[in-house]
Amino acid sequence: MDSPASNPPRGAGRYAPSPSGDLHLGNLRTAVVAWVLARDSGRAFRMRVDDLDTARARPGVAERQLEDLASIGIDWDGEIMWESERAEAYAAAAGRLTDSGLVYECYCSRREIAEAPRAPHSPPGAYPGTCRNLTEAERAARREALGPGRVPALRLRAGLPELTVDDLVHGPYTGVVDDVVLRRGDGVWAYNLAVVVDDSDQGVDQVVRGEDLLPSTPRQAYLADLLGLRRPEYVHVPLAVNAAGERLAKRDGAVTLADLALEGTTTRAAVARIVASLGGPPGADSIDALRGVVSPASLRSGPWVVA
Ligand SMILES: [Zn+2]
Repeated sequence: MDSPASNPPRGAGRYAPSPSGDLHLGNLRTAVVAWVLARDSGRAFRMRVDDLDTARARPGVAERQLEDLASIGIDWDGEIMWESERAEAYAAAAGRLTDSGLVYECYCSRREIAEAPRAPHSPPGAYPGTCRNLTEAERAARREALGPGRVPALRLRAGLPELTVDDLVHGPYTGVVDDVVLRRGDGVWAYNLAVVVDDSDQGVDQVVRGEDLLPSTPRQAYLADLLGLRRPEYVHVPLAVNAAGERLAKRDGAVTLADLALEGTTTRAAVARIVASLGGPPGADSIDALRGVVSPASLRSGPWVVA
């Protein structure tokens, strides 16, 4: 995975949908922004399917997502990367961290984590450190007590409580870096590790994605630092919301291309809405009309209200 071909000097942007359901207008718009910013900066554009959690991935959904992305004019370079096929790369990265003494096993259930006493000022949701300093005998006993089909989770022994990253839309952003999970108790590699390893292996140096992922960015930047990988540049795109200001979702009616088609709205018309929402020329129904129009600064106007 360290071959020059997988890590081109010109860098790359990417889109990495998670196949949990059809992409809605907000997801498609974020993908368009990622594509425009990559192409406008002379970068390649990579596609990756975030299907780590094979138990939750629904058959056919990823294929429909890729079809929808292609139908609105997004193209990509090279092979599609499927995270479900990448366990070896994640294990290798976790192994490097283990060799540096930065990984420990965690046996806690969600409930134990929620109920554990925690240090004052510890941020909500942060891991309380229960398994950080167990003796070898305690580890053996906890391992023994794990239920069937469970393995110990692997956690990072983080060396600092928080980290500041630079985001081209939001500016400096400081967030929690606690003992992030690297592999879950069901054996599935964790998103935060996968995203860092995959971005590096795909030569990605520009991460453009929804603003909801900004809070996990300091953890990912920290992991990249520990693994000796270059941090990408970050562009977190304000989300699409409904008239009530809530994140756009299925409940908001026809928000996917398939639902819009049932209502008689063509893909071209859907593209025209996305183009208009990003400041493109009125009536333009091709994402090419956004070349040279979208920038991190132009995204600072806030969320896209989908009426
Ligand atoms: Zn634990």
